[in-house]
Amino acid sequence: MSGFIREREAQILTKGRDDFDLVGGKPSLAGSVSQRACVFCGSRVVLYPIADALHLVHGPIGCAAYTWDIRGALSSGPELHRSCFSTDLRERHVVFGGEQKLYQALTELIDKYRPQAAFVYATCIVGVIGDDVQAVCRRVERQKGIPVIPVMAEGFQGSKKDGYKVACDAMATLIGTDNSKELPPYSINILGDFNLAGELWMLTGYYRRIGVGILASLTGDGRVADVRNAHRAALNVVQCSGSMLHLAKLMKAKYGIPFIKVSYFGIEDMSEALYEVAKFFGREAIMEKARRLVREELGQLLPALEPYRKALQGRRAAIYVGGAFKAISLVKALRLIGVKTVIAGTQTGNTEDYRLLKAICDDGCIMVDDSNPVELSELVRQTGADLFIGGVKERPIAYKLGIGFCDHNHERKLALAGYEGMLNFAREVHETVCCPVWKLVRSEL
Ligand code: SF4
Repeated sequence: MSGFIREREAQILTKGRDDFDLVGGKPSLAGSVSQRACVFCGSRVVLYPIADALHLVHGPIGCAAYTWDIRGALSSGPELHRSCFSTDLRERHVVFGGEQKLYQALTELIDKYRPQAAFVYATCIVGVIGDDVQAVCRRVERQKGIPVIPVMAEGFQGSKKDGYKVACDAMATLIGTDNSKELPPYSINILGDFNLAGELWMLTGYYRRIGVGILASLTGDGRVADVRNAHRAALNVVQCSGSMLHLAKLMKAKYGIPFIKVSYFGIEDMSEALYEVAKFFGREAIMEKARRLVREELGQLLPALEPYRKALQGRRAAIYVGGAFKAISLVKALRLIGVKTVIAGTQTGNTEDYRLLKAICDDGCIMVDDSNPVELSELVRQTGADLFIGGVKERPIAYKLGIGFCDHNHERKLALAGYEGMLNFAREVHETVCCPVWKLVRSEL
């Protein structure tokens, strides 16, 4: 591609024209103003939905504000996760240390809220001044009798993806510490669904219909007791593999639990997820129930999608999302409703992910890794996209360019998983792209 930073050339390609593999997983280029988030943010988005745990951010107030209520992750019970506590470190703590303040905040909050566990997040400044967060956590754990888990997520260590790993390591210290939860006959853990807008509850319903029980959800509608019991499930079903694959591998090595990677977005991937789980248990009754479920759901969904497909035929979409699995599902789902993907990019895809993404994209689709606002704006202009699908940082880019935007990130309030989610998605894309306001808007870029 011309007109972009030369050092990033291996991270942008056009399918059908460039025959190299898109390089993923590289550290962001200094000065390129990456759309990626920090390590701390990555750890927060994974652990946030554990609703009966205390989440204390050890750092300046800005880190807490940045990740306060960061997901639309619903809870069926406690909502302690929605309060983001901070030690609010100031200049004097940078000079004299913040351990005492951390100890006071932790003990006070545990006494007041009686959580089942506490996660303590170390931010950039804590890494710089060298507070011994782990020692404070050990001390409070002994005194209060609940797990107090340090999450060593100093933002500067890497990118959001490194934060996922830190969060998985933190959860791994809890897994295997309890055996009291009742075990369903055909039990799975769901890894990497965060119950955005209640999506987990829809998935739980599908699995129940095919006779499979969920032992633990990591971490949507999460509970500390479920995490502690998660080592007893027969299978780990991993969605959003970028965030949870590390934990699945740890659990396989330590407890022998196999895992499969799935996506719940789009009808093909949703159906495939159910079939894969049914196949794992090797019971014809489960497989038959899965086939019946898919038949019933598609029987209702396909006719309902038809008007949207007709109205959206030939429209063009730009995708820029966190992980490549989500991008792959989106390309397929958009195709189903007549929309062509002209840009497909991610923050955290690796080279292998991009090979898979490339295989399903149409010729002419521009693929981009770890992009920035200037690049994305230019790509939208070049491709003439009518719609941008991304997260909170891409929304202003779309609006400044005068095109519609659909939120597919963790802040969203609309369920997009499963069969109901596919209909919601089609409706949202249709309302956004066909909104008459875009005829009146002039691009500001
Ligand atoms: S980069 Fe550092 S200072 Fe900024 S939010 Fe992340 S942890 Fe906090």
